[in-house]
Amino acid sequence: MLITPFDPWKSKLCTCPKKYSFSPYTGCSHACIYCYITSYIPNAFKVRLKKDLFRRLKKELHKVDTFISMSNSSDPYVPEERDFKVTRKCLRIFKENKIKVLIITKSDIVARDVDLLKDMMAAVSITITTLDNKKAAVIEPNAPSPLKRLKALEKLHRNGIPCSVRLDPIIPGINDEEIEEIVDAVSSYANHIVASTIKPRNDSIKRLKKVMNVEKYEWIRYGNSFYLPKDLRFDLLKRVEKACRKHGLSFAACREGYKFKAKSCDGSHLIETRVIKDK
Ligand code: SF4
Repeated sequence: MLITPFDPWKSKLCTCPKKYSFSPYTGCSHACIYCYITSYIPNAFKVRLKKDLFRRLKKELHKVDTFISMSNSSDPYVPEERDFKVTRKCLRIFKENKIKVLIITKSDIVARDVDLLKDMMAAVSITITTLDNKKAAVIEPNAPSPLKRLKALEKLHRNGIPCSVRLDPIIPGINDEEIEEIVDAVSSYANHIVASTIKPRNDSIKRLKKVMNVEKYEWIRYGNSFYLPKDLRFDLLKRVEKACRKHGLSFAACREGYKFKAKSCDGSHLIETRVIKDK
């Protein structure tokens, strides 16, 4: 199956609305140091095309009664997408079939598809974890620089596509000092911010050790993930919330058990703010 009901390992802390996962690619070459897809996808940082993708996708579209979230276990705009244009072709199919879409990406390639997105019930969520290019190159080695992501955000916003920003993950000692600065930087282009603290798994915690003093914290196991102590997590989230309030942005937290007032955590409520005129 290509389109599946979103189920984040049945986490009780998940506040996501009913939605469907769809990843045009298997694996993700952004190779983020904190990524946990390596815990369930073999060769996770190597991108593969899915067999017979478009025919299968069209066959499964009838299932979607809410919206598609693209993607939750890869990035729909991996560097390979520049040539392959697979995500672009999927967007065309969604557009023709009036399927609502939430795009989640770390790449500025998304701005290439502004011509399609302008006429779709779609919202885009761009992940920005740091404004420091050097830091980004360490934690998200193959993803476009923060500056490129900001420029993409600006272009999408200028074209009327509603955007949110994922400040995810917040890693103490790596990017926590930048929280207010990041919210300031995106505040003119985004309507909503969703924040999440680092939640490594067994495999990603090994990679994190290269950049973070993981032994410093008393991690709390929650399902397959390790959580930072609650007081620390909530202090970090409070700072994001306060910065959002300053700019009049809606705020949510992702799988934290932290109360928020935004209409959705993932920014999908922004899809409904679109008004598409029939052509
Ligand atoms: S972009 Fe997302 S899926 Fe891809 S490596 Fe980074 S965290 Fe993993």
